[in-house]
Amino acid sequence: MSDVLLGFKPGEECSICKGRCCKECGCSLSPDDLTEEQLKALGAEETCTEFLKSENCLYAIDMARLKGSVFYYLRMRSKCYTFIGIEGYGECIALTDKGCELSFEKRPKGGRGLKSSADFRCIQEYTPEEMVVDWKPYQKVLEAIWKKYSAELEADGTIEKCEKAYEMMMRERMKNRQV
Ligand code: SF4
Ligand code: SF4
Repeated sequence: MSDVLLGFKPGEECSICKGRCCKECGCSLSPDDLTEEQLKALGAEETCTEFLKSENCLYAIDMARLKGSVFYYLRMRSKCYTFIGIEGYGECIALTDKGCELSFEKRPKGGRGLKSSADFRCIQEYTPEEMVVDWKPYQKVLEAIWKKYSAELEADGTIEKCEKAYEMMMRERMKNRQV
């Protein structure tokens, strides 16, 4: 696991930008963001699925690619979506009109590791290379769940429903802005 405790408080530019990063995708977690109990749940497919499906869970398994290899990790869930992430798509479930509903300390490492910049070229200090190392012990379980449920949710139309609900939410928002 990475040994650096990252933390860049949002800069003044964040209040101008109003969370472009949070609108694109929820923060990536590091296993360090989870409690001991949650980490234990990640040890087996059944307990991990139960944890992700639990009512208050805000996380989703997603996949990413680094140098041609795929890896699986947890990130904040997207609005309207389920515990299966689709390549980092969608506005974070914790983003409200007033900003992130989580205190800075409670934000995942990918959020605390994002260094804002006045030119809006914000830099992510929690790198994919570190994520690959951090999430290595959990690959087998996360991959099995992601593959099983992404196929199931695709086949039963859930993913399509999520996409439609998300589109609807965005359209409503645009309409309200025009009124
Ligand atoms: S970190 Fe960058 S993209 Fe995110 S809210 Fe701040 S300025 Fe915007
Ligand atoms: S957890 Fe907070 S900081 Fe991270 S993407 Fe969601 S709203 Fe933004």
